[in-house]
Amino acid sequence: MPSAEFACLNGKIVPWNDARVHVFSPVAKYGIGVFEGIRGYWNECEEQLFLFRLDEHLERYAFSQKAMRFDEGPSSRELMQALIALCRANQFCTTVHIRMMAFVDGLGEMSATGPVGTAITALPRVTTRQVGRGASAQISSWMRMPDSAMPARIKCNANYHNSRLALMQAKLDGYDVAFLLNSRGKLAEAPAMCVFLLRHGHLVTPSGSNDILESITRRTVIEIAEEYLHLKTVERDVDRTELLLADEVFYCGTGAEIAPVTSVDRISVGSGKPGAVTTELRKIYLSIAMGETKDHSEWRTAAY
Ligand code: PMP
Repeated sequence: MPSAEFACLNGKIVPWNDARVHVFSPVAKYGIGVFEGIRGYWNECEEQLFLFRLDEHLERYAFSQKAMRFDEGPSSRELMQALIALCRANQFCTTVHIRMMAFVDGLGEMSATGPVGTAITALPRVTTRQVGRGASAQISSWMRMPDSAMPARIKCNANYHNSRLALMQAKLDGYDVAFLLNSRGKLAEAPAMCVFLLRHGHLVTPSGSNDILESITRRTVIEIAEEYLHLKTVERDVDRTELLLADEVFYCGTGAEIAPVTSVDRISVGSGKPGAVTTELRKIYLSIAMGETKDHSEWRTAAY
């Protein structure tokens, strides 16, 4: 049983088990949906739930629907209100992970563009301060699908089949995470995460033309690395062997936050331990997201 009493379906707060779609809907048949994963960080001192970079998530959500030629759905303002109503209905006093999905409902076939349904769910997902031992990554034998076939830039449900193949292979082979290369053999991203390297005293990350999702956490990392650690980021092609030359490697995403990778294909990265820059960036990121500092208040939306 999930630990939330309510979900939000088409703007209405409903009991969790009543948030259903029909098996004949285009989203069930073909995965025709787009979504956002958003974090709400609970700040104990202020008794407040801070939604992190909500505007940017809503912007990308609108772009994904436009690129999928969906009929017009609720406005960003209506979505924000529904999301906040859901958090309040569930009376969350903990950090949560929110999923907002726009999907093609009804009886249509593959080319249907509506009716567009909206589903919002939120479940507690506590975050820890510890970085842990660091993740082991496998370079997947699965290729990241190219922009000319299934654009990674669009955050649509069906894209996750590609990520799932890589993740399942990595897990079965005893790794924590998969790194996918693109059709040019360059590093793309990990399932639900973007990747950074620390090399020659600056950060490096695959550019936007490497079949990645334009990640909000990636953008945040670039900004906070420059602002707080005076570290520049170069966005460019990355060869797989560069991962082995890096002093540090980490991945980032809304769900994953910022976490170290300490080996790639069982070859240790840097010292083989979580790096100082990764650890520091994670600390800065969490203190901003949780609202422990007054910095970047424009990135936090108070839900209560
Ligand atoms: N890549 C993919 C494929 C993802 O699904 C995600 C998670 N949304 C990310 C990267 C990280 O994106 P963000 O930082 O916006 O969560």
